[in-house]
Amino acid sequence: MIASVLPTYARAPLNFVSGQGSWLTEADGRRFLDLGAGIAVNALGHAHPALVAALTEQAQKLWHVSNLYQIPQQQTLADKLVAATFADTVFFTNSGTESCELAVKMARKYWFDQGAPQRTEIITLNGSFHGRSSAGIAAAGSEKMTKGFGPLLPGFVHIDWADHDAIQTAITENTAAILIEPVQGEGGIRPIPTQCLMGLRKLCDDHGILLIFDEVQCGMGRTGKLFAHEWSGITPDIMMVAKGIGGGFPLGAVLATETAASGMTAGTHGSTYGGNPLACAVGNAVMDIVNTPEFLDQVNARAGTFRQGLQSLVDTNPDIFECQRGLGLMIGLKCRIPNTDLVSACYKQDLLTVPAGDNVLRLLPPLNIDETDIRTAIDRLDAAAKSLTP
Ligand SMILES: *Cc1c(COP(=O)(O)O)cnc(C)c1O
Repeated sequence: MIASVLPTYARAPLNFVSGQGSWLTEADGRRFLDLGAGIAVNALGHAHPALVAALTEQAQKLWHVSNLYQIPQQQTLADKLVAATFADTVFFTNSGTESCELAVKMARKYWFDQGAPQRTEIITLNGSFHGRSSAGIAAAGSEKMTKGFGPLLPGFVHIDWADHDAIQTAITENTAAILIEPVQGEGGIRPIPTQCLMGLRKLCDDHGILLIFDEVQCGMGRTGKLFAHEWSGITPDIMMVAKGIGGGFPLGAVLATETAASGMTAGTHGSTYGGNPLACAVGNAVMDIVNTPEFLDQVNARAGTFRQGLQSLVDTNPDIFECQRGLGLMIGLKCRIPNTDLVSACYKQDLLTVPAGDNVLRLLPPLNIDETDIRTAIDRLDAAAKSLTP
């Protein structure tokens, strides 16, 4: 008999009842150190006082009105995002998947309005992840996600990771956009080298193509900049955001330049919940904390401590780990044994990690994880590794 919850997840038998900072408490009382942060969502850890206050204050006043009316919290958050980034305009969604839907629609509408309706093709990278909608799975293109769900949304061209020549060759008169994650998340924490990002921007400029970044996982301070592409000095035309932006409350966004967004006039897109007062109240609180030089400096410092500890972990457990990689607090440990064995061994050490593609163990701690918890994390990873060492 099918489970009452649709069984699309192979869930661990862990039942968390409360959280505080980087820690989660299981129903049996065990305290787990959380290096998954709800898959890069709990950017400020669990039960951050400023976020709890923002949510509860808003909850007393107004939950939802729909986008038929002004939503001041949404306006404020959009202004902050525009001030902090390349973007001129923002649309709020509830998830990364919805952000992907709009990014694809926006790029196609742009070319339609430019009098080039044949320009519908979007070039994406193998190993990418852009959500589970029809557009999202067609964009990522891996058989694991698409098999059985055809016919797929047409118009996506898949290129091997960081194969600049292949991207160049894939560009035709039908190309609308290139869509990439500046740091691939699900694919195994693979940062696109700065030179490649710069090359992509130039390629897009030369051919008048839109550049779309999916910063759903790598954005909102995760890499030590507000958005990961800032490390390369170039900017996209459209950017998808979600996960960390709501700090645990469902919130996403699409940011765009005025030009890229020019086709999205009244009636061309919408969302019932997107940018509602509750989500935006929390989003504003997250933004006010994360988007400060002090906070981002601290992310970089903590990342430095973490990465130093992980390097000795890798060096002292050569049978288990091949290398570490990533950017800021978006960290991957490439494993020599099945990564899921390590995830399970970490559970036994009361430590939460997340598997990723390319046999990587993914570490996405809260951005405000403290130095003591980082040391604890490394000790527990070491114990998990030792427990698996032949
Ligand atoms: C998680 C993720 C998505 C999908 O976001 P959802 O909120 O799960 O819909 C899209 N792109 C990237 C890079 C992601 O990591």
